[in-house]
Amino acid sequence: MRKNIVAGNWKMNTTVPEGVALAKEVSDCLAGFKANCDVVICVPFTHLVPVCGAIDQAVLGLGAENCADHKSGAYTGEVSAAMVASTGAKYVILGHSERRQYYGETSETLREKVALALENGLTPIFCIGEVLEERENGSYNEVVKKQIEDGLFNRSAEDFGKIILAYEPVWAIGTGKTATADQAEDMHAHIRKTIADKYGKEVADNTSILYGGSCKPSNAAELFAKPDVDGGLIGGASLKAADFMGIVKAF
Ligand code: PEP
Repeated sequence: MRKNIVAGNWKMNTTVPEGVALAKEVSDCLAGFKANCDVVICVPFTHLVPVCGAIDQAVLGLGAENCADHKSGAYTGEVSAAMVASTGAKYVILGHSERRQYYGETSETLREKVALALENGLTPIFCIGEVLEERENGSYNEVVKKQIEDGLFNRSAEDFGKIILAYEPVWAIGTGKTATADQAEDMHAHIRKTIADKYGKEVADNTSILYGGSCKPSNAAELFAKPDVDGGLIGGASLKAADFMGIVKAF
């Protein structure tokens, strides 16, 4: 059966010493507390090695926020999936809306990234979600379906079973404006049906679908109580151990 997961996305925040201290604080909190979900932090590339050395991965998983769409070679400034895996990280966020929007990531590049992540044993946390205009003009269900079809439906059922999805309505990211629990549930159920239509009910029922977008300790419990919401991808509130733990404790 699918797992409940709370994953942090630190984005471009914290220096290495600050990040190591934050990661250690979260890891120490989790060591003294039996969480009812898996907990992961996704951190900048520079932080992966020192954070890996500072946390207990038995209680806190580690991931990157991106990886390259090529295996290796003349791609100055890029970081490959193999490099990420060699740090000890186990997860990688792919297709975050900020990468789609600011760095021109397309479904085509994302298919390459997903393939390389899986080849290197990383679990992709694959992000999908509509912009405000698409929410307002009512096309959001089709938009999200197409992102899943174009980015992921070239995979086998076995591969698909290794992927975590994160529904992040772009209008809710970093805005303080959270989707209502009912809006999140409607979309998550739609995503699960989209998966079931392609891979069957068993694969769909086993897929963890996280909600992301201004999730915080005060609204996490209501969101996570919905049957198709299997946890959260947390931006701003993952930068303070107490807030992040408040969300973990919502399960
Ligand atoms: C995110 O960027 O993945 C995110 C969910 O951000 P925030 O929680 O800050 O809205």
